Amino acid sequence: MDCEHYREMISGLIDNELNAEEVNTVNQHLSRCTECRAEYDFLIENTEQLNSLSFREPQDVVMQNFWRLPFSRFARNAGLVLVVIGYLFLVAYGFTTFFLDPEGGLVGKIALATFIIGGLIVFGIALIERLTTYKTDPYKEIDR
Ligand SMILES: [Zn+2]
Repeated sequence: MDCEHYREMISGLIDNELNAEEVNTVNQHLSRCTECRAEYDFLIENTEQLNSLSFREPQDVVMQNFWRLPFSRFARNAGLVLVVIGYLFLVAYGFTTFFLDPEGGLVGKIALATFIIGGLIVFGIALIERLTTYKTDPYKEIDR
């Protein structure tokens, strides 16, 4: 058999498509033929590169690069500030409307109390997460 035939078997060997007898045959040839051995090593290397690439989800890399952009961080921080400001305004408005007004309805008071408690929990968790990840954030230096 010539090398051309073995080249096809080498691909099959790497893809685990050969039976035991074929594996034996191609391995014997690989131990004798340096050219096919080089081809085999080359294919193995490329296959490993392909496999190691798929270990990392492409969207992870895209998202990481996205959050590294200064604009992304600015937009996220600005959005957070706006949410907090809006939240405080709504709380102040709800407080004067439902709690200070003697005619304020019970439903409004319950809604406001729920809103405040829920907000405190969400902001509290976000704050704790920020403080704990801040210490270990690998991009801390890039931020500033
Ligand atoms: Zn050969």
